[in-house]
Amino acid sequence: MTIPFHKVHITDQEIEAVSQTLKSGWLSMGPKTLAFEAAFREVIGSPVAIATSSATAALHLALKAIGLSENDEVILPSITFVATAEVVTYFKAIPVLCDVLPDTHTLDPNQLQTLITPKTKAIIPVHFAGIPCDMDAILEIAKTHHIPVIEDAAHAFPATYKGRAIGTIGDITCFSFYASKTITCGEGGMITTANSEWAAAIKTNRIHGLSRDVWSRYETPTHWDYEAIDNGFKYNMTDINAAIGLVQLQKAETLKEKRKQLAKTYDHAFQKAGIDTLQIPEYADSAYHFYIIKIPNRDQVYKTLLEKGITTAVHYRPIHLQPYYQSQYHFDPTRFPVSNRLFDTSLSLPLYPDLDPTDQAYIIQSVLDVF
Ligand SMILES: *Cc1c(COP(=O)(O)O)cnc(C)c1O
Repeated sequence: MTIPFHKVHITDQEIEAVSQTLKSGWLSMGPKTLAFEAAFREVIGSPVAIATSSATAALHLALKAIGLSENDEVILPSITFVATAEVVTYFKAIPVLCDVLPDTHTLDPNQLQTLITPKTKAIIPVHFAGIPCDMDAILEIAKTHHIPVIEDAAHAFPATYKGRAIGTIGDITCFSFYASKTITCGEGGMITTANSEWAAAIKTNRIHGLSRDVWSRYETPTHWDYEAIDNGFKYNMTDINAAIGLVQLQKAETLKEKRKQLAKTYDHAFQKAGIDTLQIPEYADSAYHFYIIKIPNRDQVYKTLLEKGITTAVHYRPIHLQPYYQSQYHFDPTRFPVSNRLFDTSLSLPLYPDLDPTDQAYIIQSVLDVF
């Protein structure tokens, strides 16, 4: 038996949508991208949604929009994918790491408070594994110091915090539609914000810093001229990717419900055995991106499962233990005791809509056998 860590959910519907787009004669950013943005705005309930080539691009655009510059500080959790820290370095700004909470693996608001300095220009909370951070606590600190909050919601579509959709809470939210995320475009990202000034800057810089009028040439071809009003990037989505996204968006809730049911089955089995797992707080509805158990003999369990044909993963090696970031910023590892412990003990199990119940039973039994 072999059970992969992830399996993409792609059906004939997505294949047909891509095929139609290829036949339409318009491949890059065009009507499908506009339709995807409109549909996403509707689902999230955000006034603005801007499609990008990735969540990394989205975070980069967001930090440019708020005017991040050299030597500014940006606070982010020590446990996240490297992209969250990488975008800060694009500006020669400084990633300041904050430890996480042991139950949700999200930003610890108490430590966050102590890390604010006059140089802090942004906070990037990560809704780890699809579990929303404690946004009220984070936003209160941010408001007091007038610091924008840019949410890394790469794991968190769809998810809610106290009944409100992730994407409508902080100043700017960035989603990912990478192949292994909760819904996919192959590659892609989305930015939501209610700030029209930042939205305008993001739209301009998504396409070489060109004035918006140029982009609307697609809809109303008026004049040949266009102007570069900023030094932007090539970060637009393509209609081929958007066509996949439009289909996936319609299934997002159904796919999440399937992951949620699988997570409940895992919970039930592991609680009985006394195995610690990621905890979803009362205030949240998770997107159920990862299912994580925490076990003292993690490396042994990983190896044994692999021998049994089950691929698992570890999310993540903390940023302060990544060679590049360690060498550049000299983080003191003792400042992140929770992250260190989670890095030693966490194991992510397969969690995807098409995971077969028999396969899941085999995973559960295999974990219990070695634990
Ligand atoms: C995947 C991921 C990203 C980057 O997403 P891309 O769309 O691949 O650029 C950023 N942050 C986190 C936490 C991620 O897991």
